Amino acid sequence: MPAELGIPIEQRTIAYFSMEIALAPALPTYSGGLGVLAGDTIRAAADLKVPMVGVTLLHRKGHFHQDLDDDGWQHESPEAWDVHQHAEELTPRVRVRLAGRDVQIRAWQYVIRGCFEQAMPVLLLDVDLPENQDNDRRLTDRLYIGDRCHRLAQEVILGVGGVRMLRALGLSRTERFHMNEGHAALLAAELLREHLLSHGKSAVDEEAITAVRDQCVFTTHTPVPSGHDRFSQDQIRAVIEEQSALERSGLFEHEGMLNLTYTGLNLSRYVNGVAKRHGEVSRHMFASYTIDAITNGVHAATWTGDRMARVFDEHIPGWRGDSFNLRYAAGIPLEVIASAHRQAKRELLDRIEIQTGTTWDPHALTVGFARRATAYKRPTLLFNNMERLEQIARQNGGIQLVFAGKAHPDDDVGKRLIQEILRSAKRLPDQLRLVYLPDYGVELARCMVSGVDVWLNTPRPPLEASGTSGMKAALNGVPSLSTLDGWWLEGCIEGITGWAIGPEYQGMDPDPDDRDDAESLYSKLEHDVVPLFYNDSAGFNQVRRHCIALNGSFFNTHRMLQEYVVRAYL
Ligand SMILES: *Cc1c(COP(=O)(O)O)cnc(C)c1O
Repeated sequence: MPAELGIPIEQRTIAYFSMEIALAPALPTYSGGLGVLAGDTIRAAADLKVPMVGVTLLHRKGHFHQDLDDDGWQHESPEAWDVHQHAEELTPRVRVRLAGRDVQIRAWQYVIRGCFEQAMPVLLLDVDLPENQDNDRRLTDRLYIGDRCHRLAQEVILGVGGVRMLRALGLSRTERFHMNEGHAALLAAELLREHLLSHGKSAVDEEAITAVRDQCVFTTHTPVPSGHDRFSQDQIRAVIEEQSALERSGLFEHEGMLNLTYTGLNLSRYVNGVAKRHGEVSRHMFASYTIDAITNGVHAATWTGDRMARVFDEHIPGWRGDSFNLRYAAGIPLEVIASAHRQAKRELLDRIEIQTGTTWDPHALTVGFARRATAYKRPTLLFNNMERLEQIARQNGGIQLVFAGKAHPDDDVGKRLIQEILRSAKRLPDQLRLVYLPDYGVELARCMVSGVDVWLNTPRPPLEASGTSGMKAALNGVPSLSTLDGWWLEGCIEGITGWAIGPEYQGMDPDPDDRDDAESLYSKLEHDVVPLFYNDSAGFNQVRRHCIALNGSFFNTHRMLQEYVVRAYL
């Protein structure tokens, strides 16, 4: 067991804290977009040699495995994984105080390697130690599952325990602490406590705040209220207990509650939203703060399917080390791109055949939709008017629909949406096929975004902070058909990189209008997407190529991380 990180750590390291990080397809240490972004960020850091150390929780039993029964209802089960096979235990132990008890924490090291073999460590914090009481040992088992006190305890382990672990590993002079969403914001409490202790202070003063702010960067990820962690005084007393100088400072509070978004806002030198529009919405929500925007990206080498990656290797050497090179996809012959896509589509359709026993048509327009099943993402918008959808499918060579996505175990509305989709799948005409593939995860996501013809996204504006799966599709030459929200406001060039659903929505409150958006969706399908696909394959292949050259080259984590370095870290 190594005493220290197996990797030499430079002084100017960025400590990147995230409740979830998608490390590898086999590891269920993430739930969705936030974790994928965290993993893609560290993968970009490894490629670009930006010194970074990731900090997260171990999640021994993952998020959950999804099964769908005959009636379309979701069932959840744990997804245990063998930690020893993938990570290395480190020697140091640190403690945090929870509910009046000392809880011991250890760290496992997982190593992310970049395309030039540069290695970046990720620390997975774990409290499953014999020294801890039985209840406490399970605190780092499951991601986003458990009551509010459980969540708060996890956030103390991540934020406070994470900083202590970095110190125990000798990282005394970390350059910046990046809070990827409010879950990690209690790291600022620990930095403040350190400052008070080392300066012999009993109360927080301006100097202390400045010292902490200078080290911290905060990224907020959603305008949806439930995405902003808040805890009542009772919950705080149950978990954290003592009212220290920190709590009296008011830096962690908003409207009488511990509010981790306000903690991040109050104690960071730089705050950002994750797309230009999300920056505007966040400035509206938190009007007295300065909030910038850095549009998300995806890690190109991770999300480009094997077939297309081979084409890039041949035609664009250097694309793995520098995603800007993908602009040169503009010079790849259309037929080469089309052929790589055909093979990726074949692989997806084979997978569907194995799963469902039905053979799908490789020549039929195949539309993909996959993301967390939740109300604001409107997964049933496409089925708003079944007659209309069937009519569009009948007029041409048919439409095949591939859906996937998990609902959070407590989100019955989300579960009912899945059920609604599966129920409508039972009474479709021949020209319309629909499958809901269970247990959406990064491996299935990669297969879907590279194998479908069009990537559908229907969030209710302005609630989609960014969205990233459409960026993955773009890398694979797959255009998006999406409401104008999040990244798509920046990525959509009508008819060139894909198609917009509905007009641009200007309001700050959620757009209540489903009917108009559904009508616009049908109209775009009927008049733009379907005719181009069936009647003008060269035109459709042009769109594919534009997706890669215009959007793949920009909406990636190489560009994104460089923006963080220049605007947030330096
Ligand atoms: C990319 C990804 C997401 C996020 O997709 P959005 O478009 O942002 O909703 C969620 N889950 C998995 C498994 C992913 O790969």
